[in-house]
Amino acid sequence: MKTKGYAALSAKTELVPFEFDRRSLRPRDVALDIYYAGICHSDIHQAREEWGPSTFPMVPGHEIVGKVIEIGSQVSKFKVGELIGVGVFVDSCRNCSSCLAGLEQYCLEGMTGTYNALERDGKTVAYGGYCDKFVIDEDYAVHVPQNLELAGVAPLMCAGITLYSPLKNWNTGPGKKVGVMGLGGLGHMGVKFAHALGAETTVFSHSPAKESDAKKMGADHFVVVKDSKDLKSLSKSFDLILNTVSADIDLDAYLQCLKLDGTLVVIGLPGKPYSINAGTLLDQRRSLAGSMIGGIAQLQEMLNFCETHNIVSDVEVIKPDYINKAYERTVASDVKYRFVIDTKSF
Ligand code: NAP
Ligand code: ZN
Ligand code: ZN
Repeated sequence: MKTKGYAALSAKTELVPFEFDRRSLRPRDVALDIYYAGICHSDIHQAREEWGPSTFPMVPGHEIVGKVIEIGSQVSKFKVGELIGVGVFVDSCRNCSSCLAGLEQYCLEGMTGTYNALERDGKTVAYGGYCDKFVIDEDYAVHVPQNLELAGVAPLMCAGITLYSPLKNWNTGPGKKVGVMGLGGLGHMGVKFAHALGAETTVFSHSPAKESDAKKMGADHFVVVKDSKDLKSLSKSFDLILNTVSADIDLDAYLQCLKLDGTLVVIGLPGKPYSINAGTLLDQRRSLAGSMIGGIAQLQEMLNFCETHNIVSDVEVIKPDYINKAYERTVASDVKYRFVIDTKSF
């Protein structure tokens, strides 16, 4: 299937127009016209090889929504004409304990990434969503609610689920104090979900100008953090802190803001290790955890939650020729709050 998109050809060059072929449909495959694809900071980390060597040419994009245009002979989950979403992975082993538990993102053999990966045949390059068409096994795609603004749904496929999953896992609800570090693509979804789940929600940001937006999204408090001293007065006060910051920061100062048995969940993935004082963990029996996206069942659950609570991402819709500029602005924390490519215009 002829596909038009944008690709990074190397870590040091800008993304450029790129045409390639997608596979013909297998019995359980679904083909879709992509309508919108979000730009996740993970796309930038990988296109620039900030996580180690990448595979080029790379068509990034793992926040994909569109409409089904064709189905394989054994497809039962989707019909032609339905809205469909694709997230961060397109396959997994299907047999390990994680896959069987619906936690495909933690597949013991490794999930198959939507891009910058090889498919499970070990040779076909997986190309992502910055393009006009996609082909996916029906088990790894989800139904998209009809009532939501579609451009704002695309970022739910990564940014949304990545914050929804830990909030559910650590039992967020009324009476809980939740902090969200970084008000970018992931962070702003964390604020919307924490608020909708009934938690008292605080944003930690290094961008003072984002305060009024944060409050509109449901934040109860907004703390400008220029220096770890700015966190001193919040010592021992949070149940849960979600770190979505894409850059290297002093995590220890945030850990000190956790109360007894509180947890700080690492979600942001800068290339370098963090430094933690053992004493900070021992005091108040604090936990440091990590969390990666969410499984297919939870992705669908989150979309249904968004349908009920009318939640979408705040987006700036762009044309493909703005992708490189959007990367620069995202790295500069100048995104409100997710760039989404109008892929119909490829
Ligand atoms: P983003 O839109 O660029 O947001 C990151 C935010 O971090 C910025 O808006 C900014 O918020 C803050 N920040 C950036 N540089 C900073 C600095 N030098 N000091 C302090 N704060 C800074 O990125 P994103 O798409 O939300 O992704 C965030 C991170 O999560 C990335 O590393 C990405 O790879 C990772 N990620 C992880 C998963 C997972 O499954 N765990 C999934 C997707 C993405 P303020 O302006 O409010 O300070
Ligand atoms: Zn992502
Ligand atoms: Zn598996």
